[in-house]
Amino acid sequence: MINDKRKVVLVGTGMVGMSYAYALLNQNVCDELVLLDLDKKRAEGEAMDLNHGLAFSAANMKIYAGEYEDCKDADIVVISAGVAQKPGETRLALLKRNAKVFQSIIEPVTASGFDGIFLVATNPVDIMTKITYMLSGFNPRKVLGTGTALDTARLRYLLGEYLRVDPKNVHAYVMGEHGDSEFVPWSQAQIATKSILELCADNPEIDRQQLTEIEKEVQEAAYKIIEAKHATYYGIGMALTRITKAILGDENSVLTVSAMLKGEYGQTDVFSGVPCIINKNGVQRVLKLSLTPEENDRLGTSCRVLRECYDELSRDGM
Ligand code: NAD
Repeated sequence: MINDKRKVVLVGTGMVGMSYAYALLNQNVCDELVLLDLDKKRAEGEAMDLNHGLAFSAANMKIYAGEYEDCKDADIVVISAGVAQKPGETRLALLKRNAKVFQSIIEPVTASGFDGIFLVATNPVDIMTKITYMLSGFNPRKVLGTGTALDTARLRYLLGEYLRVDPKNVHAYVMGEHGDSEFVPWSQAQIATKSILELCADNPEIDRQQLTEIEKEVQEAAYKIIEAKHATYYGIGMALTRITKAILGDENSVLTVSAMLKGEYGQTDVFSGVPCIINKNGVQRVLKLSLTPEENDRLGTSCRVLRECYDELSRDGM
């Protein structure tokens, strides 16, 4: 910790940001929470609203709407600020607008003297995390995105339902882009220490095809929620909270965040969702799982999609 108090600055007090802030308060994760938004009045209103819950909370948090200078001694700056897609707007045009939003955020954060960890949730999260890394000039291990942390939680929930096992005892990951090219390396999926593929082979009532359906359901989850309620925010708020706890608690926990690959899985210079050891240094290291050649190819394909997307943005003069 940079101070004796655990300090988080949240930039972007929309649905995702405030679901995160609410979870931080309920789980008593930090001592000081600063809210920043382009819409300062909104940040002030959100701070008031949260503060009125303190009397009912186990937390004794200091919560206020602040300024970029408040990042100076923060442990983590979390970014969930962004602009929504306009009707008819292309993916690249949206990305360019969000890159501009990030320029307006990262510059004053670094100018404050901030020397903590950047944690990014704004979509497309793997690209926005790389942009944060490029704009900040930080050590890449101190810049991470939520990656496939939420997708992994969705997978564990669905597998737990299907196999009737507590999701906490389901060890399985979603890897790659937080998006259409993400995938599940089934060779690495386990219930306690039992391989799920072996479980399938041993039990005729467990259908291998159903696992593929679950993988598809995870990939399509965000589309379904957005169709039903226009946005997703509670799950990602909880995922951000879990990552924050791992950093502030120096936990060395394994979480599938968006981290820069430096040769792991044969990939370099790309931010992608991979299992990582997370502690007070951010990404302590990327875990190198024993993927099958086919799974390694799927990760390669996903990284290629991400690289092409970033290159397209750079060519267009970000
Ligand atoms: P939202 O529109 O409710 O909130 C966005 C906030 O950003 C607004 O309050 C807006 O005022 C603020 N903002 C815009 N420009 C800014 C700037 N230059 N400086 C400071 N603040 C600025 O959106 P949301 O539903 O909270 O979603 C936020 C982001 O999170 C989106 O990009 C969304 O796609 C993403 N998201 C990611 C995941 C994930 O798994 N990573 C899941 C859900 C949503």
